[in-house]
Amino acid sequence: MTLDLRQLTNAGVNGLHPYQPGKPVEELERELGIKDIVKLASNENPLGLSAKAAAAISKAAVELARYPDANGFYLKQKLSSYCGVKPEQITLGNGSNEVLEILFRTFVGEGDEVIFDKHAFIVYALLTQSSGATAVPIDSTDWGHDLDAMLAAITAKTRMICIANPNNPTGTYLPPAQIEAFLAKVPEQILVVLDEAYFEYVPADQRANAVTWLAQYPNLSISRTFSKAFGLAGLRIGYLLSSAEMADLLNRVREPFNCNLLALVAAEAVLDDHDYVNQSVALNREQMARYEDWCQQHGIGYIPSHGNFITIEVANAAEVYQALLQKGVIVRPIAGYGMPNHLRVSVGTAAENDRFMQAFIEVKQGQ
Ligand SMILES: *Cc1c(COP(=O)(O)O)cnc(C)c1O
Repeated sequence: MTLDLRQLTNAGVNGLHPYQPGKPVEELERELGIKDIVKLASNENPLGLSAKAAAAISKAAVELARYPDANGFYLKQKLSSYCGVKPEQITLGNGSNEVLEILFRTFVGEGDEVIFDKHAFIVYALLTQSSGATAVPIDSTDWGHDLDAMLAAITAKTRMICIANPNNPTGTYLPPAQIEAFLAKVPEQILVVLDEAYFEYVPADQRANAVTWLAQYPNLSISRTFSKAFGLAGLRIGYLLSSAEMADLLNRVREPFNCNLLALVAAEAVLDDHDYVNQSVALNREQMARYEDWCQQHGIGYIPSHGNFITIEVANAAEVYQALLQKGVIVRPIAGYGMPNHLRVSVGTAAENDRFMQAFIEVKQGQ
């Protein structure tokens, strides 16, 4: 056999590295032979599935022999009032990850440049590379996006700019006025994607109402997800808000049944479960304050976060990560994000956070 598949790949594929997910609980259970593992590695909702979503899933399970509604009619109706857009402005995806992928498949190709922050969500880099386009990573200021540097990086080849707000893994947040001023300066043929995966965690009075900018900026789109505050990470459902014209183009590229039937009904149900979302956000706020106090008490550096995770400074992060695993606590090393001296810790329940804090101190004392 002399066939070398690497000679046959599309541009960019050979340079890709697989996405490194948080270590699954089951995997660590098998490795250590222990049960009570705490996973604070993927920014999941620590409250577990919403009861309303669970009921909707059970009820819909008997329908699973059928294809789902390819257009997600009912979910788009609900999202339309939740977000304040017309249903025609919504593109649903298998996680917001997929709506980003559809966006790239539609607009980004070989020869294009895509601008994003050096420490931004890694999916932008993966999608740029697999589109055969060129990544233009921008240095951060205080771990946050430097919008002026992003503007300065624009060339004739720039096709897209991705902004995560709040950003993952740094938790930094750009106030609405800064983004608005930025949008006004971006040439209209360059698409701007605002990734608002942590939208619900930002206090209402600090949130950008980015949706109101869509009419003025047809190059803008906004991605959001049900994976975080809505607690449906395992079902894979997210959405993109844009002009109806952009949504129409994306809809041609989108795989027909990209959102599964259970994801559609669960997302509809959780949009009505206000108590669940409010509790999730309140728990996060309370426990985030605890993390900040704890860091300050122990002299641990951290990046103030607007998400449901906190990124802390750890000199020997890879070692500490491994030692925490041995104690049954999974956090996220982020060397792949150019941050080898930090660990990202998702904010869990009070008991989960206790476990992390205790394990971390033990590991530090043992070193
Ligand atoms: C978690 C996250 C997403 C969401 O991914 P899904 O595919 O919707 O689960 C998107 N963007 C950022 C910045 C994230 O942290």
